[in-house]
Amino acid sequence: MKLKKVVALLIVILAISACTTNPFTGKKTLALVPNSQLLPMAFQQYDAFLSENKVVTGTSDARMIKNVGQKISVAAERYLTANGYAGYLSEYQWDYNLVDDPAVNAWCMPGGKIVFYTGILPITQNEAGVAAVMGHEVAHALANHGQQRMSAGQLQALGAVAGNVALSKDPKNQQIFNQAYGIGSNVAVMLPFSRGHETEADRIGLTLMAIAGYDPIVGAELWQRMKANAGGGAPPEFLSTHPSSDTRINNIKQWAPEARAEARKFGVTSFRK
Ligand SMILES: [Zn+2]
Repeated sequence: MKLKKVVALLIVILAISACTTNPFTGKKTLALVPNSQLLPMAFQQYDAFLSENKVVTGTSDARMIKNVGQKISVAAERYLTANGYAGYLSEYQWDYNLVDDPAVNAWCMPGGKIVFYTGILPITQNEAGVAAVMGHEVAHALANHGQQRMSAGQLQALGAVAGNVALSKDPKNQQIFNQAYGIGSNVAVMLPFSRGHETEADRIGLTLMAIAGYDPIVGAELWQRMKANAGGGAPPEFLSTHPSSDTRINNIKQWAPEARAEARKFGVTSFRK
């Protein structure tokens, strides 16, 4: 009798706390809102964001963002398929856009919806620098860090909302969502990722950029430039959620060779700087 109750309780708990496995670390992570609910919300938020902001089209910078984005997404698909996670990105609808905004920012929503702000381009400097930021942001999305950034309560509320009302019509839910995914430019309400998530995204990001044919050491150079930029005037959005420490830069230097070694397994022999 007692055992039956315990078993029943366990089943309920398991049903509530749906877990997914992070394909890069093998760790179980909490995913209270399944992709089938989360991704439509993300797609809706992404479209709303694009309609409210000035999307840059037809410039070499805009083409560079799309080009690097395609390479990073192909790298992610190849890596996941090779590691037994074919179909992990089947619900993704990749999109890469540049918006005309001086904010130093970039993000990737779940489902592969990426935005770069023109304000980050002086720091990324070139294609490889863009790949370093893109790899890092895509890694956050692939590892579902945004979901874990929100509290379970918030996630459940959002999940319930998504089932009924359009998310964008409720400013409060929209704000929770945007905070969790680093969207917007109000530094005061931005939630930083945990140090653990940052480290994870750095490491996964290096592998992705290397498979895409970019030298992962550029990651260290990029974060050095970020650090230098943080010394200046206005608080840059990206840096408020991505503190650039010496530890981070040293880690990346240390991990660059293993990222190149991983990429060689995919036939990548030269790495663009
Ligand atoms: Zn990050």
